[in-house]
Amino acid sequence: MVDSYDAIVIGGGPGGSAISTLLAQAGRKILLLEREEFPRYHIGESLLSGTADLLKKLGVLDKMEQARFVKKFGVSWIWGVKRDLWTVYFKDALATPYDFGYQVERGPFDEMLLNNAREHGVNALERHQVVNLTWDDGRVNGVEYESAATGTRTTVEAPWVIDASGQSNFITRQVATKRWDEKLTNMALWNYWENAHRPDGIDAGNTFLPTFSEGWWWFIPLRNEITSVGVVLDRENYLAAKKEGMKDYYLNAIQRTPELAERLKSAKMIDEMRVLKDWSYTYDQFYGRGFVAVGDAACFIDPLLSTGVHLAMLSGYLGAASLNTLLDEPQNEEQILSFYQEQYSREFNRLKDQIYFLYGGHSSPESYFWHARKTMDMPGASPKQAFVSLIAGAYEHRSWYRRFIMNLDVPDQVRKLADGIFTGQASGSQMVSTDAPLERNPRWQERASFALDGLHLRPSTILTSADGNNLPLTPDMSLVLKHIDGSKNSAQLLEEIGENDERRNTLRSVLNEAITHGAVVVSKEVAAQV
Ligand SMILES: Cc1cc2nc3c(=O)[nH]c(=O)nc-3n(C[C@H](O)[C@H](O)[C@H](O)COP(=O)(O)OP(=O)(O)OC[C@H]3O[C@@H](n4cnc5c(N)ncnc54)[C@H](O)[C@@H]3O)c2cc1C
Repeated sequence: MVDSYDAIVIGGGPGGSAISTLLAQAGRKILLLEREEFPRYHIGESLLSGTADLLKKLGVLDKMEQARFVKKFGVSWIWGVKRDLWTVYFKDALATPYDFGYQVERGPFDEMLLNNAREHGVNALERHQVVNLTWDDGRVNGVEYESAATGTRTTVEAPWVIDASGQSNFITRQVATKRWDEKLTNMALWNYWENAHRPDGIDAGNTFLPTFSEGWWWFIPLRNEITSVGVVLDRENYLAAKKEGMKDYYLNAIQRTPELAERLKSAKMIDEMRVLKDWSYTYDQFYGRGFVAVGDAACFIDPLLSTGVHLAMLSGYLGAASLNTLLDEPQNEEQILSFYQEQYSREFNRLKDQIYFLYGGHSSPESYFWHARKTMDMPGASPKQAFVSLIAGAYEHRSWYRRFIMNLDVPDQVRKLADGIFTGQASGSQMVSTDAPLERNPRWQERASFALDGLHLRPSTILTSADGNNLPLTPDMSLVLKHIDGSKNSAQLLEEIGENDERRNTLRSVLNEAITHGAVVVSKEVAAQV
């Protein structure tokens, strides 16, 4: 094996496997050190449909199919004032190419990902624990690790060390500040059941999330008729559970949740009780000189939306693109790594915001949908589509609009939606009259940023709104904006800048995109007269 590496990865969970596989695909030499022997037990069993896309990028989706992990097409809830069951399906998510996620036992799942990393050339060593960082002039430049088999300690250096150590936070806890989220200080208590009742058809693999007066439950159907059933409690209810005895509390609480009791009435509990603190947190820095943190090593969010593995793999993907770029162009280190942190935090915060809202005692599914619609940068999507897209982990949705505008291939559902937006018919569209003069919204500013181009980040300018929505500033977008001066309506504008019908159509789409996002608005004088 090589003894000179481009990066060393601490931890072989989904975050560590994802970043090392992608970097290896890009031709980088990677050493991954994992302290446990796989398969090892881990919680975090329910995956999103957006994760299927990341599994595809890692080249492991076929293996997931062969392993016959349970497919999850949707999520069923009893959440809100009424105790009605409501279900959302990933097929309604926009910009996620797959309409299913998986339910996985993390032992075999993580082992599959780690072996897949090896097949891509990663040197992955199990039972090798990182015990120290090494430094050179204030920069992390390697690690010292210990082999469990021999007790030998070895030092190895590389330009980058990646903290993928999960909640061990191996690097972040030494160099950054952890902020606990005081609103999300929950505890989880769970066990496994054989032969729990599952609904028929495509709902059989759904996660089922019923609430009861003390907290909420997860019901995650796994392979071989095993079901993971856990309860999430705030601190007060957890202390009550502790007093009663965990197992007694758990079994009694099931009886206080009739819809769950019904599913478990002929089932048998087969494991010991498991308890874990699931307090949410984020570090103030996800990177520093010589290192990057992915997954739980950077931040962790309450499991209500089953987003942990997805965020670990998404940050692995963003981290891989960032380091792959930096290995070629080290001069942009601060800009690229702050872009990395911004992107990862943004996805994290959007999900956290939705979790706050779901815990906030709001009354109905519709209110949850509308909340998602407000936070998702998805003009034209219905509230429900926005909610499903959010909980599906739709990260690259913005690029689908762009692909539509550039007349590239897009899924039919997106094409239909985009068509709707651009004719002003889609729900929520803020399409303005074509007769009104247009002007630029001064609250949208230009900013230097980066765009993902495969596993590379290239510099790009974006337009960004005060509340953080973004539009890439393509040459066509610049052209359109340059000619908006408050005197012309859209027809006049397109006549001025489009040489022929085809060109005018393209520019119309670009203009409508700017209008739908709010970067271009009806001239103030006109708006005042209406
Ligand atoms: C109660 C609960 C329920 C959850 N439910 C879900 C769910 O349904 N769906 C979901 O997606 N997520 C869920 N999660 C979150 C999920 O478990 C994590 O977000 C996810 O595992 C993070 O992946 P990771 O790769 O960052 O870290 P991990 O998966 O924790 O992997 C880190 C790895 O690093 C290794 N390691 C640590 N220190 C060292 C060291 N010094 N040297 C070498 N190796 C080291 C560890 O052994 C481990 O294998 C849940 C979490 C909790 C607490």
